[in-house]
Amino acid sequence: PVRVRFCPSPTGNPHVGLVRTALFNWAFARHHQGTLVFRIEDTDAARDSEESYNQLLDSMRWLGFDWDEGPEVGGPHAPYRQSQRMDLYKEVADKLLAGGYAYPCYCTTEELDARREAARKAGKPSGYDGTCRSLSDEQKAAYEAEGRSSIIRFRMPDEPITFTDLVRGELTFTPDNVPDYGIVRANGAPLYTLVNPVDDALMDITHVLRGEDLLSSTPRQVALYKALIELGYAKGIPAFGHLPYVMGEGNKKLSKRDPQASLNLYRERGFLPEGLLNYLALLGWSFSADRDLFSVAELVEKFDIADVNANPARFDLKKAEAINADHIRQLDLPSFIAACEPWLTAPHANWGPEDFDQAAWEAIAPHAQTRLTVLSDITANVDFLFRKEPVEDEVSWTKAMKGEPVALLTTARAKLLDADWSSPESLKNAVLAAGEEHGLKLGKAQAPVRVAVTGRTVGLPLFESLEILGKERTLSRIDAALA
Ligand code: GLU
Repeated sequence: PVRVRFCPSPTGNPHVGLVRTALFNWAFARHHQGTLVFRIEDTDAARDSEESYNQLLDSMRWLGFDWDEGPEVGGPHAPYRQSQRMDLYKEVADKLLAGGYAYPCYCTTEELDARREAARKAGKPSGYDGTCRSLSDEQKAAYEAEGRSSIIRFRMPDEPITFTDLVRGELTFTPDNVPDYGIVRANGAPLYTLVNPVDDALMDITHVLRGEDLLSSTPRQVALYKALIELGYAKGIPAFGHLPYVMGEGNKKLSKRDPQASLNLYRERGFLPEGLLNYLALLGWSFSADRDLFSVAELVEKFDIADVNANPARFDLKKAEAINADHIRQLDLPSFIAACEPWLTAPHANWGPEDFDQAAWEAIAPHAQTRLTVLSDITANVDFLFRKEPVEDEVSWTKAMKGEPVALLTTARAKLLDADWSSPESLKNAVLAAGEEHGLKLGKAQAPVRVAVTGRTVGLPLFESLEILGKERTLSRIDAALA
């Protein structure tokens, strides 16, 4: 059975790279009817915070992910927060030491730096040189007597490490490129290099899908896994698949600090989770040659890690927005109405929740649905229904004033007063007739009416808008504009 994991460190706002990794793991698990383990890698007390942890869970829920084992749901390998598993790591580290798979290393940072520099100058590999690999008990005792502290270092095998990456195919790393590495700090704190593969082993993870930035740690983990198998902690080595880099502006790797990378940004702007996930799935994967738009259910059905492309993927905000707009268009009307509501019932500069009118919103909603890129766009489209009077803004009004709109507005007001307010057609004919009297085509005639009534030069179909706003408010806004 497939067992995959999503194991972020709670170190700040989740970013889109993290979401893509979560998505591919989740889709892979669901596609294979496997198990998704959600593990929190919070062993770095200096960087991890409870706030980030809560934000992480909230983000995962908002995106619509569910997990079979992990925070809030528990599971047979609990606890799923590494900060609560420290005893286990200590136990494993002790066994690795006792079995000779790892050794205490007494080299100081200064010594390591100096030797690394010398090796670099001599054109030799600059990784750990093995100084403490085979210290005798006397040498260790002497170092301890000197007051030196030691880290625990894992002993890499002297042969190359080969594994078959699910995305990249067979990869081989020679010993020169993968020196012995630290797994426990001098103060006893276990490092990612230890806790991540130990938990993958203990949690019976079968497939590790993660970003390409972690590819260099994989040969180390494969070697550690072999030790864990011999010590009885692991059943086998998982298959690894490394997802391609995501490139941002200027063809540089999208960094966590890049504003475009922040998940919250997408959420605050009103991306639909499905729209965002659809777009993020395209970073390294494709649904088919001629289709970019799909649902999460379709993604799950079709997702195959073998189809993931090893080439870097380019993050394209415009494309993300276009895909999101398509997802908004595909919502059924009640879902669209509900999805926009948080934006409309929030406080705004010139109107607030007390001005919101549910019936007016439901009436205008079908006219707005095709116009949004993100849900927050709804405000500018329908705020004329809720804004406090007067609604005209100076910029739009100055634009609309060109060509004597006062005379036209006066005529239009008179015709609208006599129009049949139960049909937009009749309102249109009223403005059309007013325009004719002043030698103006409908487009020119309706522009000042729109500005007077909505405060904007562009917007939703005007006569539907007027009908929904109602006769009284429409006429009083024209009066206010003429005053
Ligand atoms: N906690 C690690 C990270 O956030 C997990 C990496 C991995 O998937 O192995 O990068």
